[in-house]
Amino acid sequence: GNGLMAGKRGLILGVANNRSIAWGIAKACANAGAELALTYQGDALKKRVEPLAAELGAIVAGHCDVTDMDSVDAVFAKLEKEWGKLDFLVHAVAFSDKDELTGRYVDTSRENFLRSMDISVYSLTAIAKRAEPLMSDGGSILTLTYYGAEKVMPHYNVMGVAKAALEASVRYLAVDMGGNNIRVNAISAGPIKTLAASGIGDFRYILRWNEYNSPLKRVVTTDEVGDSALYMLSHLSRGVTGEILHVDSGYHVVGMKAVDAPDI
Ligand code: NAD
Repeated sequence: GNGLMAGKRGLILGVANNRSIAWGIAKACANAGAELALTYQGDALKKRVEPLAAELGAIVAGHCDVTDMDSVDAVFAKLEKEWGKLDFLVHAVAFSDKDELTGRYVDTSRENFLRSMDISVYSLTAIAKRAEPLMSDGGSILTLTYYGAEKVMPHYNVMGVAKAALEASVRYLAVDMGGNNIRVNAISAGPIKTLAASGIGDFRYILRWNEYNSPLKRVVTTDEVGDSALYMLSHLSRGVTGEILHVDSGYHVVGMKAVDAPDI
């Protein structure tokens, strides 16, 4: 380990399994000396998260479903009791009905629109508000977004609209909390094959498109997102807030399909 996060305590929301982006971030933080708390969403994920937490010596702060504020409050009550303070927070949570992650955005139902915004957007604000009183020495809050917030991506639909709102939330929270030396940033990750991503239509095609057309000519890994997260969560980024950092092999700078990309 490199000791960059020694003495720091952080809560990480969004580990579902060992392919989760949150898991890549957790490993990087633990390797750098941080003490971690993980949560799980429901009993089905409990048995996956518990052994992963044990691997890193992390606390399991219990069940947390961001649509159930009692479960969110219980997590923060536990952290206050166990640690009394918090240095960083990772929000790697999103959801949309997969039937609406295909076809046309215009067909989004009101019910799924509201649910996607609640889980994928409002939850960041809800947990930031609860983290603030525990971040007595300042802190760093990080969320995960995608380029579909900025440009239209096939099938991303309501999630693109949600990520745009999430990125705006990062900026508003950065201003609200900056006076308490709490920073709020996002990583805009390139496509990675995770459980959540498997709900997106033609995801394999999206991966290959990025591989052929990104400057680095490959897709990113959860470990690479984890290492960039380490920068955002540590004192190295102490002058940075309200920022959206693209960790996407540079894909976001490209304006046109590569001339040598094969037809895929
Ligand atoms: P994942 O399936 O491993 O993680 C998604 C997590 O969201 C899961 O742990 C799940 O339990 C949690 N979640 C969903 N609904 C919840 C609720 N109601 N309450 C609490 N937790 C809930 O997938 P991932 O790709 O690692 O996703 C993490 C984040 O990264 C998401 O915000 C996603 O949009 C973002 N992201 C993913 C990609 C990608 O290509 N995989 C790219 C850019 C951004």
